[in-house]
Amino acid sequence: MRLLIVGGSDAGIQAGLRARQRDPSAEVTVLVADRYPNYSICGIPYHVAGEVPDWHDLAHRTRADLAAAGLDLRLEHRAVRVDTAAKQVDCLDGAGGTRRFGYDQLVVATGALPARPPIGGLDQLGPAEGVHSLHTIGDTLALTDSLARRQAGQVVIVGAGYIGMEMAEALRTRGLGVTVLERLGQVLPATLDPDLAAEVQATLHRHDAAVHTSTPVQAISRPGGGLVVQGRGAARWQADVVLVVTGVRPDSRLAAQAGLRLGVAGAIAVDRRMRTSVPGVLAAGDCTVTYHRLLESDTWLPLGTTAHKQGWIAGETATGGTRQFAGSMSTQVVRVFDRVVAATGLRDQQAAEAGFDPVTVASVADDHKAYYPGASPLQVRLTGDRRSGRLLGAQLLGHLGAEVAKRIDVLATAIAYRAGVADLGDLDLSYTPPLGSPWDALQHAAHAWLAHAGTAPAGRPV
Ligand SMILES: Cc1cc2nc3c(=O)[nH]c(=O)nc-3n(C[C@H](O)[C@H](O)[C@H](O)COP(=O)(O)OP(=O)(O)OC[C@H]3O[C@@H](n4cnc5c(N)ncnc54)[C@H](O)[C@@H]3O)c2cc1C
Repeated sequence: MRLLIVGGSDAGIQAGLRARQRDPSAEVTVLVADRYPNYSICGIPYHVAGEVPDWHDLAHRTRADLAAAGLDLRLEHRAVRVDTAAKQVDCLDGAGGTRRFGYDQLVVATGALPARPPIGGLDQLGPAEGVHSLHTIGDTLALTDSLARRQAGQVVIVGAGYIGMEMAEALRTRGLGVTVLERLGQVLPATLDPDLAAEVQATLHRHDAAVHTSTPVQAISRPGGGLVVQGRGAARWQADVVLVVTGVRPDSRLAAQAGLRLGVAGAIAVDRRMRTSVPGVLAAGDCTVTYHRLLESDTWLPLGTTAHKQGWIAGETATGGTRQFAGSMSTQVVRVFDRVVAATGLRDQQAAEAGFDPVTVASVADDHKAYYPGASPLQVRLTGDRRSGRLLGAQLLGHLGAEVAKRIDVLATAIAYRAGVADLGDLDLSYTPPLGSPWDALQHAAHAWLAHAGTAPAGRPV
């Protein structure tokens, strides 16, 4: 069986590895547009910060590991055309030549592209002028080169999503002046409610990163040696380097050319076995729609965890397996200096739009016993359905070391198995004074929710 995979990042490599595990005789060829197969692009901020000094260390696996697993990598091979009737893919190789590859099964894993917001001058400015986007290892090397070459002192980051937050921290860690400009009225708009986001913004200020929300960037120009970022009215910021991180969009161009049906957000429509509308063609990762476990419908949630799992399922399906992608709930966690933000499931408004009767209750409890040094308040916000009592979503904000990631994973697991908020209170969670409390902060939050929603007598464990 000839399995051809277009894309050599999280989804494409997982598809290849799983296919070879299941069928060691499968001939797996991976076409990769750039020279950087299987890098953890999630780790880019930590390389820029200097915490992972050598970018090569960001590789999930080396080329030798991938070759040993039976993956035939073709680097600098950009697929430009798919003929699904003839089962052939045409490529441009690094030397400017064209190559044709046949397949029995094809996996499209072309990922995402940085969004290009409507900012005047952006189309005329690029890395050569110090204006960068950040999605690939190539982008990362261009950025670090720019920072060094320009002896940058000031960086403006356009966009306050999680990558903007991680990069603000990374660039401050390098000792640079950082200003974050965000069009919407809060940081982390896709992740957090506004009042929790305000605390994250305060954290950035505490670490001397300026943040301006409700500040749409109108234009970027380069009148002299430096860059000028123009907001509304007379607002101007000088910068040596500008980083535009305003989100991504699915790269479904090849799929559209091949005649595959597109779905939500223009991502490739797939079923839960990652099959596209064309027999013999699978797709996985950021280029595809994402089945949402709670909504039980397609959304688009481009995340590395999801890309891995979808790629794995594509590898199963390509080799005759029948497992399904279980779905995503957009579970995420982000470190912002000394704070950690995490979320899973639906926020209040999303839940209401989906037909639930949401109640969202905020509570605060110490992350571990107050008498043990270092205890800090952990903010927990639970969203549940008033009618059924079902847990629908959560947002957490706490200090680094407050086990925020562990706790969001408990909540994500509970939601995945359709737990009620009351069930949280009954969970047998671990406890030792330096790490927790007999009633965990999540259980305090569950009792607060039950009291507020009127499904239990007021009061909570003490
Ligand atoms: C800075 C940063 C931090 C992130 N942090 C996190 C995090 O902490 N947690 C998390 O879950 N997610 C995170 N993400 C998101 C995560 O990295 C992506 O969701 C994930 O990498 C998607 O994997 P993918 O394989 O679908 O696509 P991509 O990683 O976009 O890879 C696409 C691949 O396809 C190749 N390709 C594209 N077109 C062609 C073509 N025509 N021919 C041949 N090859 C082609 C590309 O070269 C590449 O190899 C982060 C992303 C960034 C940029």
